[in-house]
Amino acid sequence: MTAPDPRVIQLVMSLRGSGVTDRLVLAAIERTPRDIFVPDRFLDHAFDDRALPIDCGQTISQPLIVGLMTQLLQVDDRCKVLEIGTGSGYQAAILARLARRVYTIERYRTLAKEAEARFAALRLTNITPRIGDGTKGWPEQAPFDRIIVTAGAPVRPDTLLAQLKPGGIAVIPVNNDRGSQTLVRYIKTDSDTLDEEAVMDVRFVPLVEGETKAL
Ligand code: SAH
Repeated sequence: MTAPDPRVIQLVMSLRGSGVTDRLVLAAIERTPRDIFVPDRFLDHAFDDRALPIDCGQTISQPLIVGLMTQLLQVDDRCKVLEIGTGSGYQAAILARLARRVYTIERYRTLAKEAEARFAALRLTNITPRIGDGTKGWPEQAPFDRIIVTAGAPVRPDTLLAQLKPGGIAVIPVNNDRGSQTLVRYIKTDSDTLDEEAVMDVRFVPLVEGETKAL
């Protein structure tokens, strides 16, 4: 083991001060070098607590939001997790340290391929990436114990919530009338009851329905 990067330690301390208190989540963040997920031109900012641009006009989420969403999801090593919006792969990599298996869908091939290479470099063998329209979920692998969407859904994504197991938890940003999204935590208490709790306002790139022809 090499000593952790002091910039990671500082980031973790700042997240703890801002409400990420789950020790396993903090440990997962500490073990996941964010610098390999950001474009070279932003390397100096890789450990800042801010979202950064990635290819295809998308963003890697702010570490605080990654930490809070992961904590809200209450993932353990028995969980089969679905993520919509692989992006850089950073959120998926953190989930992979906590979950049994992570299925992640991205509509841009370029991003999906780059993320896949990062998972291999970090030897994260329990992530299954796919290119496609995440709004449909992953019916062949459903149901899931946990679902996380890292793009702003225009309305409550019922197709995805139908793929959640009874007892399962989903964390999803849903557009509100303030021009941002409300981060909502859904808990499926039994097969046809969904509790929902608004957590905070967040700002994600949009969840876009359909395949993309772009690279
Ligand atoms: N979790 C990412 C954040 C990526 S930003 C990270 O840690 O870096 C959100 C991503 O969702 C973008 O890459 C965008 O292309 C993707 N996305 C938007 N709509 C989608 C859809 N319908 N299916 C799959 N991915 C989608």
